Amino acid sequence: MSSTWHILGAGSLGSLWACRLARAGKPVRLILRDAQRLHAYEATGGLTLVEQGQPRTFPIPAEITTAPGPMSRLLVACKAYDAEKAVASIAHRLTADAEIILLQNGLGSQDEVAARVPLARCIFASSTEGAFREHDWQVNFAGHGFNWLGDPANPLPPNWLDDLSDAGIPHQWTPDILTRLWRKLALNCAINPLTVLHDCRNGGLTEHHCEVATLCAELTELLQVCGQPQAAENLATEVERVIQATAANYSSMYQDVRNRRRTEIHYLLGHACRTATRHGHTLAHLERLYRRLVEHLNNHGLPSD
Ligand code: NAP
Repeated sequence: MSSTWHILGAGSLGSLWACRLARAGKPVRLILRDAQRLHAYEATGGLTLVEQGQPRTFPIPAEITTAPGPMSRLLVACKAYDAEKAVASIAHRLTADAEIILLQNGLGSQDEVAARVPLARCIFASSTEGAFREHDWQVNFAGHGFNWLGDPANPLPPNWLDDLSDAGIPHQWTPDILTRLWRKLALNCAINPLTVLHDCRNGGLTEHHCEVATLCAELTELLQVCGQPQAAENLATEVERVIQATAANYSSMYQDVRNRRRTEIHYLLGHACRTATRHGHTLAHLERLYRRLVEHLNNHGLPSD
């Protein structure tokens, strides 16, 4: 019998993972932030996954962070800015051999969590799957994608990858997870902030070709300086390809701002700028972009941290 999958954060991605694992008969428990959220969930009767317009509800058991009981396998599916605090609230429940899977986009939050629970094994994930919530406790599986998993401190795969295969969660274990995360971060830095500042879909950036190219040159420099040369390979070409392939889409950061939600800027562009500073490197355009974005968020009454 496989260990229970404790899922911290029953939002879009957490619910997508929880429903697929439950559908495959794996033991799953949701960890919700407080009694109010637990009552709201229990009144609904379960999590609903909508796939190709077809809803199916899974009565997955749930509890609050302060419930008793050990956890040896924890999937953290909060936003990057909530991850450390959320993990701190359950840290006393982790077993000595606990493994934590971190689904957060960007970089920086993984190290914050690892520092908070130094004895746990932290496995980083980089996901290109897409999910969104129309209502609480209901998730729409919007975009098929892939999940890269890895542990920068230990190349040996964990023993639960078969659970993911059984659940139809596409994945691969990689010793180069940091390269994957840096590459995704660089793509994000080259595209998402500009879509917010120019108020456009991804395809609108074809009209700002020079600005995109200048950012790609600085991001390439940064990746080389911080020991991620592989993540830098042909970055500009891939950024152009993504802009073309997703021309009709609004970036996730654009959607966050439009819906007046907090962005993960601190763990994306913010992380890139902090890393450059730490290496004593000046990246004038990237830093100016960060200042413009912070100002834009502040002008819209949104947090910029
Ligand atoms: P989301 O829908 O906002 O879900 C986050 C969940 O975390 C919410 O349900 C929230 O609870 C919960 N949470 C926050 N603090 C908590 C705490 N202290 N205790 C318990 N639960 C807590 O976010 P998401 O879209 O799933 O994104 C999660 C991460 O995955 C982000 O880093 C995102 O960039 C990344 N990602 C998402 C997608 C996607 O398609 N959604 C794709 C790739 C990567 P409440 O509901 O109570 O507020």
